[in-house]
Amino acid sequence: MKKRVVVIGAGLCGSVVSTLLRNDFKVTVVEQSRKQRPLFDDVDCPTGELNTSINRAQGLGGTTNYWHNALIELDADDLTKAGIEPAGMTPYYAKAWSFFLSESELADCNRARDLNRKSVEQGVSTVAHMVLPQARHNVWELANRRNPGDGIDVVYGHAERVVASAAGGTSYVEVKGKSGLERIEADHVVMAAGGLATPVLLANSLGQPSAFCAGYHDHPMAYVAKVRLRPDSRLKAISCTATRSAEVRAGLVYKSADLKTVVYLRPAIDLRLGSITGPARYILSDLRNDPFSPKKILMLLGNLEAVREAILFKTRSGFRGDYYSILILGEQTPIPTRGVQLSPGKRPALNWHVTPDELASYDASVARFFTEFDADILERKVLPTSSWEFRNAAHHSGTANQFVEHTRDTSLPFFAAKGLPSSFVCDGSILRAAGIANSGLTLVALSYRLAELMRTLA
Ligand SMILES: Cc1cc2nc3c(=O)[nH]c(=O)nc-3n(C[C@H](O)[C@H](O)[C@H](O)COP(=O)(O)OP(=O)(O)OC[C@H]3O[C@@H](n4cnc5c(N)ncnc54)[C@H](O)[C@@H]3O)c2cc1C
Repeated sequence: MKKRVVVIGAGLCGSVVSTLLRNDFKVTVVEQSRKQRPLFDDVDCPTGELNTSINRAQGLGGTTNYWHNALIELDADDLTKAGIEPAGMTPYYAKAWSFFLSESELADCNRARDLNRKSVEQGVSTVAHMVLPQARHNVWELANRRNPGDGIDVVYGHAERVVASAAGGTSYVEVKGKSGLERIEADHVVMAAGGLATPVLLANSLGQPSAFCAGYHDHPMAYVAKVRLRPDSRLKAISCTATRSAEVRAGLVYKSADLKTVVYLRPAIDLRLGSITGPARYILSDLRNDPFSPKKILMLLGNLEAVREAILFKTRSGFRGDYYSILILGEQTPIPTRGVQLSPGKRPALNWHVTPDELASYDASVARFFTEFDADILERKVLPTSSWEFRNAAHHSGTANQFVEHTRDTSLPFFAAKGLPSSFVCDGSILRAAGIANSGLTLVALSYRLAELMRTLA
């Protein structure tokens, strides 16, 4: 008889891991919602600008129902900071890329990457190579297509905690569903509930209902300036290249005080700052995922400049113009004060603040961008650093920090939950660092790695 694996969460990692294990184990997936729904306010956030937009989602596919499909690798520095041996990760990144793209599509994107590097990498900045496949996927469906096989049981309900048997093996997951509390027995558990829910699950399973789960990091983003470029500036071409089936965007990465900042250029109409300041500055992408919000429609109508610029960006036509907004994303690393606070009977609260040291580092990097591309920039209007309005980028990471071993490679202990035998963590919460990269591609690579390791336990 096959051993039983219970995977908690049917989002990006849960979908990939469960479909990869389906032929070796009897797999049950626990997903909190039958409906695909965005989550706006399932956490409190005194730091602000988290619940104004979708910060994650539920239902089969999890947050990938609403994601932007932007794929980017962590570089060797980031991987080392994350406790992942860079060379060891290469085959898993290859699997992750081919999960999303065919061989020829990937070759097209790599060609664009190489050209972008050749055009701008001259010793100061490096290129952040981001790929957006045109076809957006619900990853539950994609994973089931890529990894077909034996049936997977889906149980709808909220996993409350994992209970380990007295003998040491994991014995069950407690799930709150429509008909009350249910126990689902398991030989192994994979917690893939996402970077904000998995720490709650871990703390509750370990009897720590008031825990502070430190280690949270993201790459908060802010618009910082507008520029007018020389008509022949190389920055235009690198900012957006269309291949047959994807878009390749190059950001410019600078490192100051051991933290990275990436600079992306987005088309603009002129140098006026109204479209990149105030609550409407991301309005079109907010509305795409939440199209019937009267508050957001009103905001949109109040900032037509932002609408026109968003259309220039989405249709790519603006990348031929001369005006651009400067959007930065800044690296965060785990610090003891940033994380998820649990309080019995209350919603968890997230603190994702940008520290003064981080702000100083991002500021220094922006200055280096202006120096490096001084000859390309004919005019600029820069927002004072004190008025950069940061927004959380929803790459909720690092919150399992205190619940896992800090290994230097991705052997099984990297994923193992301390104090919960036979339980593993695989989602944003396990990622101890991510530089300025969107985490999704790396999480798919880690899901492949964990599935390979778990097969040896079958
Ligand atoms: C709007 C938006 C756009 C994004 N775009 C990108 C992008 O372009 N590229 C990128 O790399 N990243 C993107 N991200 C980040 C993205 O969230 C992650 O890449 C990815 O979805 C994380 O996967 P995950 O498996 O950790 O969590 P999720 O995909 O969020 O999945 C977690 C799942 O667990 C379920 N769950 C949670 N708690 C419980 C519980 N207690 N019991 C049972 N089920 C539970 C949830 O319902 C959900 O289905 C985006 C995020 C948002 C919000």
